[in-house]
Amino acid sequence: MQICFASHNENKLREIQQIIPAGFELVGLDQLGVIEEIPETGNTLEENSEQKAVFVFRKFEIPVFADDTGLEVKFLKGQPGVYSARYAGAQRNSEDNMNLLLENLRDATDRSACFKSVITYINAKGNVFQFVGKMEGEIIEEKKGKGGFGYDPIFKPTSYNQTFAEMSSSDKNEISHRARAFRKFIDYLAVQ
Ligand code: IMP
Repeated sequence: MQICFASHNENKLREIQQIIPAGFELVGLDQLGVIEEIPETGNTLEENSEQKAVFVFRKFEIPVFADDTGLEVKFLKGQPGVYSARYAGAQRNSEDNMNLLLENLRDATDRSACFKSVITYINAKGNVFQFVGKMEGEIIEEKKGKGGFGYDPIFKPTSYNQTFAEMSSSDKNEISHRARAFRKFIDYLAVQ
């Protein structure tokens, strides 16, 4: 059975292809001929991932899943959250985003933060399911490490002494918020 991952990101698609249970044929948005960015106008990660999945389901009526991730910082009352990619503006630049976050946390007494990934899955009957993965940690004061992407150089997961950007990608992928959400989703699919 075809299942769509509502993403244009070839790296994400390749990664998920390797863990999707037998019997599912993974297709990305490009393969379905969806070239535009699907609107993400919700106020929460749950709403945005659902919005993407619903968009594809209405158009193609095939099982589909979509993910959305954000960094929630306690001192900033959960910001940047759903705005993580565009925190410092529409240019969606990771350096600008990190600099703004460090600036906004200059006087912070609490630097705890949490990455959260939400996957929305819509099955062939149109039933909607959500799977959440979280990684708790803290925002350190200066960037460290060259790996990863986004906020990785300033995020140190709890109980580890390296930032995500200092870890090997396999170590990060083992423990990350996204991995946790995907493991829950894949475990669910495997018994369907
Ligand atoms: P997306 O929903 O996966 O596109 O993630 C939205 C934004 O959250 C990205 O543009 C990054 O700024 C940030 N982000 C998501 N996942 C990670 C991660 O694993 N490390 C660092 N930043 C991330």
